[in-house]
Amino acid sequence: MHCDTVNCSVSLFPAKPMIKVDCSDLSGMTKLGLAEAISDGLGGKGIALLDGKDIAIDTLSGPELGIARIQSMVVSYLSGRKDASAYSVEDKGNLIVVHSSAVVSAQEKKVSSVLPPNLLQCPDCGFLTTSQNQYEDHLRIHDLMRGIAR
Ligand SMILES: [Zn+2]
Repeated sequence: MHCDTVNCSVSLFPAKPMIKVDCSDLSGMTKLGLAEAISDGLGGKGIALLDGKDIAIDTLSGPELGIARIQSMVVSYLSGRKDASAYSVEDKGNLIVVHSSAVVSAQEKKVSSVLPPNLLQCPDCGFLTTSQNQYEDHLRIHDLMRGIAR
């Protein structure tokens, strides 16, 4: 069966309701830190993708993760920050909204193109990981899906 790039990207990220975390109140660095914490918390059962102002949780082909579990990761990440009292978290069905009373400049809201040295981001889909091995495996999946043998 022929497998072209378009079909492959569709099957890699099938359209299904994803849990999203609305981070429009957060600075770029806070959002990256949160995405990393969620990715770690998922322990390979899913990945946290940057999606504009949101973080989207993709559980791939695995079982759906309950929103309560994602929300508890968000709360535990924010409560570990020294400005924890500035944040509140709201549950809106498949959307977790993070509110912040901290003043964040427009510049800080933009996700920096310079990632922390230990954080790797896939240029194709925004997948984040701190593991070099996991990153290389991830890139290999894209290549395999495109039918390119290394
Ligand atoms: Zn990717």
